[in-house]
Amino acid sequence: AAAALHNAKQDDGRNRIQFHSPEAWRRSRRRLDLEQAMQGALERDEFSLVYQPLYELRGGTVVGVEALLRWHHRDLGHCPPDEFIPIAEATGDINPIGDWVLREACSQAAAWSRAGIVVGRMSVNVSAVQLRDPGFAARVLGACAESGWPPTQLELELTESALLRDTPALWHCFDVFAREGVALAIDDFGIGFSSLSYLSRLPVGRLKIDRSFIAGLGDGRRSAEVTRAIIQLGKALRMQVLAEGVETADDESLLREFGCDEVQGYLYARPLPAREVSRWLQPRADDTVAESGRVTVLR
Ligand code: C2E
Ligand code: MG
Ligand code: MG
Ligand code: MG
Repeated sequence: AAAALHNAKQDDGRNRIQFHSPEAWRRSRRRLDLEQAMQGALERDEFSLVYQPLYELRGGTVVGVEALLRWHHRDLGHCPPDEFIPIAEATGDINPIGDWVLREACSQAAAWSRAGIVVGRMSVNVSAVQLRDPGFAARVLGACAESGWPPTQLELELTESALLRDTPALWHCFDVFAREGVALAIDDFGIGFSSLSYLSRLPVGRLKIDRSFIAGLGDGRRSAEVTRAIIQLGKALRMQVLAEGVETADDESLLREFGCDEVQGYLYARPLPAREVSRWLQPRADDTVAESGRVTVLR
């Protein structure tokens, strides 16, 4: 049956791209390959999480980590989330995959906590598709209860597009999260289209400025001015603001000047497997930091 399905998909792909360019054919072919490879990927244990530390800019301390999904397929190798997540969203595979991410992230956080490691908040990316499922909020709480990770130390990162559909299912999730203390952040803020009046009604505590603005900070005035404006907007809405993709010390000092609350980026730490990231989380003396040869504590 799987082979038949595979052939059917291939034929379907062929018919669809018949009149298109070789590039379109290649993309369509790749998409079908990934769609197929994703079948059973959870059962084959092909997914893993890496964790990137989040820093408070003023004090320079780690305040949490963001869990980021990785997929390694035996034939296709590593496939980046920006490529496979849209496909998983289209097929619906994002629901079981997203549930796995939540359970894995919460049990890792709880395990660190039991080992005496200060985690702060565990931040998990959630797709628009997951939020449309009326059972989603209950499963989030289930992941917390099973692992023993407190909902008040869990944050869900939603994109602006996930929030655009103002539906009863969305508000049901929001009610449950507000009641249980699950925090919400808007990810990639600034590249979507949020109405400001809608934004101010959302129970969101944090804006994460899209890294395209941070990447442009040094290039001229525009990105810097927009970044400054987003930080001011966040303050006006009584939200915390985090800048993603901070790569240079110059970015950092501008963000400091603008009053940005938190930062995340290669300047501080890359996303790392649990085993490697735990040492960034332990509060350590400055000499240990110097010994490791890496900058872990901000100025
Ligand atoms: P995101 O949530 O905005 O995550 C931040 C992305 O920026 C990550 O890419 C991270 O590795 C990257 N990044 C962090 N610091 C820097 C930096 O200084 N410079 C640069 N150039 N990049 C930096 P990644 O891990 O490839 O993830 C890409 C996107 O895939 C995520 O963007 C998120 O939208 C999505 N994603 C990842 N994991 C999950 C998941 O578990 N569920 C869902 N629904 N989406 C996920
Ligand atoms: Mg994110
Ligand atoms: Mg982002
Ligand atoms: Mg993104």
